[in-house]
Amino acid sequence: MDYQKVLDEISAEIGLIEGSGKVATYIPELGNVQPDKFGIYLQCTDGQGYSVGDALEAFSIQSISKVLSLSLALKLIGNHMWTRIGVEPSGDPFNSLVQLEYEKGIPRNPFINAGALVVADILISELKNPKVDFLQYVRDLAEDQTIQYNTKVAESEMEHKFRNASLTHLMKDFGNIKNDVNEVLDFYFHQCSIAMNCKQLAQTFTIFLNYGKYDLSAEAAILDPTLAKRINALMLTCGFYDESGEFAFSVGLPGKSGVGGGIVALHPKYYSIAVWSPPLNSKGNSELGLKALELLTTKTEQSVF
Ligand code: GLU
Repeated sequence: MDYQKVLDEISAEIGLIEGSGKVATYIPELGNVQPDKFGIYLQCTDGQGYSVGDALEAFSIQSISKVLSLSLALKLIGNHMWTRIGVEPSGDPFNSLVQLEYEKGIPRNPFINAGALVVADILISELKNPKVDFLQYVRDLAEDQTIQYNTKVAESEMEHKFRNASLTHLMKDFGNIKNDVNEVLDFYFHQCSIAMNCKQLAQTFTIFLNYGKYDLSAEAAILDPTLAKRINALMLTCGFYDESGEFAFSVGLPGKSGVGGGIVALHPKYYSIAVWSPPLNSKGNSELGLKALELLTTKTEQSVF
């Protein structure tokens, strides 16, 4: 497969689209990004990487971090996780409060904000130095020790924390948050603020390829195969807020988006890919990122279906 040719074609076709998406501004610091940024990095299982556009420019990974925090929490507490968080798509916006009331503080899945806040609470309980240890985990996965939190973004989100604070307080009332609410929010905003580029993200997400074995000949799986299977399933069913069905329908890959305009997706056999285009559609997903991935699976005929 000539992936470079495919990426070049996608970039050319995306360049012709006049999108109607808007850069997220509810976290003011995110609103400072240039809307016309566009990058893709595709990392193949054979070790080759391909890119177009702004693939080496770091951006705020936001909710993409939820996959990484989940993977670490699952390594630490295993199936106990599922007593505190469900595994069903929510069908509601990413920051919705509605289901928490009648589901007694148990979030529908780990990728909506409520679920990620419980995962953050678990990591605070389990890690010695939560923020330091989590950043180190991400750096080790990416094999890049330069990755940093963007504290300006984290502070900006803390200043506008009201919705996430409401979610955390409500779950605390139901007994599903064990630590101090502000500590949970501070950890969560920092994890979301991590700055990475498409190349770093695509390479990091290789841990979910081949059911946890990046190189098929590798002796030890980097991630337990069962964990990789479960996380891929959650990305497929819950990775795109209340647009997860649409993503499975039009793209057909497990993936996760973030309000910084990034999307990471993967084909368990062939590649992981990260796309970045800041303007979001009404569901909070990168408008052109979705389009680029739809073009990718159409042109390569490599979707999980
Ligand atoms: N930090 C963002 C929030 O909690 C993450 C949202 C996202 O990327 O979906 O609102």
